[in-house]
Amino acid sequence: MAEYDFDAVVVGAGAVGLASAYALAQRGLTVAVLEQEKAIAQGVSSRNSEVIHGGLYYPTDSLKARLCVQGRRKLYAFLDSHHVAYDRCGKLVVATAPEEVERLDSILEQARTNDVEGMARLSKAEAQALEPELKCEAALISPQSGVFDSHGYMLALQGEIEAAGGAVVLATPFEGATPLGAGGFTVRAGGEEPATLTARYLVTAPGLSAQVVAGHIEGFPGDQIPAGHYGKGRYFRLQRKAPFAHLIYPPPIHGALGTHYRRDLGGQAVFGPDLMFVEELDYSVDPAAAEAFATYIRKFWPALPDGALTPDYAGIRPKLHGPDEPQPDFRIDGADRHGIPGLVALFGIESPGLTSSLAIGEEAAAQLGL
Ligand SMILES: Cc1cc2nc3c(=O)[nH]c(=O)nc-3n(C[C@H](O)[C@H](O)[C@H](O)COP(=O)(O)OP(=O)(O)OC[C@H]3O[C@@H](n4cnc5c(N)ncnc54)[C@H](O)[C@@H]3O)c2cc1C
Repeated sequence: MAEYDFDAVVVGAGAVGLASAYALAQRGLTVAVLEQEKAIAQGVSSRNSEVIHGGLYYPTDSLKARLCVQGRRKLYAFLDSHHVAYDRCGKLVVATAPEEVERLDSILEQARTNDVEGMARLSKAEAQALEPELKCEAALISPQSGVFDSHGYMLALQGEIEAAGGAVVLATPFEGATPLGAGGFTVRAGGEEPATLTARYLVTAPGLSAQVVAGHIEGFPGDQIPAGHYGKGRYFRLQRKAPFAHLIYPPPIHGALGTHYRRDLGGQAVFGPDLMFVEELDYSVDPAAAEAFATYIRKFWPALPDGALTPDYAGIRPKLHGPDEPQPDFRIDGADRHGIPGLVALFGIESPGLTSSLAIGEEAAAQLGL
């Protein structure tokens, strides 16, 4: 049996890389997480809604459906055991026009197929009894949905990895890997002190850089690297008291769950994200978009005052589809796909990646036969 510097190297210290390293550390492996930034959680995991998704919408038997539900259950348990804050506030999916009511039925059916607990249909009066300022024709309630402190979560994961003898190495970009004849990899790391290390297993979870990273693994078949697209989502914050306690979601749009409402853990109301396909990693939020946001929001909250929205932040989804293409599943690719034993390469970990992260980590470990 060859000797390695680490049992496993994980590329990327976002929620998914950290959760994958945690899954491996829990199996007794020594793990090094390589992160190019000077801190953990600077990528997609720092620019999202911090919503714990129920798992309602995703197609039957997809990874998204299975890993969202499993990941959500694991996530609440992890947050409890690590004293990380969350609010299981529940979510209302609202039909804002009569023609949307039928869509609620199909979402409810899908949610039940996906084994989402506690889902129920609400009449307009029942929904408005819960949220008096809400305008809707009917609604679904998902009691398991919530919001959480995703940074506290990622810090807790880092703590677990380090407590198990692993290392989260910052300011250290992964530059390439070469499979070794006897199994395992030589991994080249850059940064101020470039180094070469060996590992039995390699998991790549680099978010928006998934395609570039896979391209730097010797022998990775080019035709197994899916095309990547950037799906930008912008947020606006409300300069008033938060009007609702529940998450409020109109039915999903193509390619995303659509602009929704949440009350964050600080008690502030945030609306977003929308979806626009972009070519660059541009995180600006055009204040002029407030007008279109307000029109959309008034479909379910007519009382939104004029001029109450201010630009907040934007995030970019690592998408595997363009604007008019069907939305594919997560890709958690093992040797059966790319032909390299000991390697799991993740692609397209967009929403619900944060909710699913602990289950994605378990899936990556399972792909390695661990
Ligand atoms: C607008 C928006 C809203 C969302 N809302 C939700 C939500 O409410 N709930 C939910 O469940 N999901 C949500 N998601 C999805 C979720 O945020 C992502 O699925 C998840 O954060 C992806 O985590 P990750 O670890 O794969 O990627 P990242 O967090 O991007 O982590 C990848 C890390 O890899 C590092 N890296 C890249 N290249 C290299 C390299 N060569 N060497 C070393 N390090 C490297 C990066 O610096 C980064 O830190 C949302 C996403 C967006 C964009």
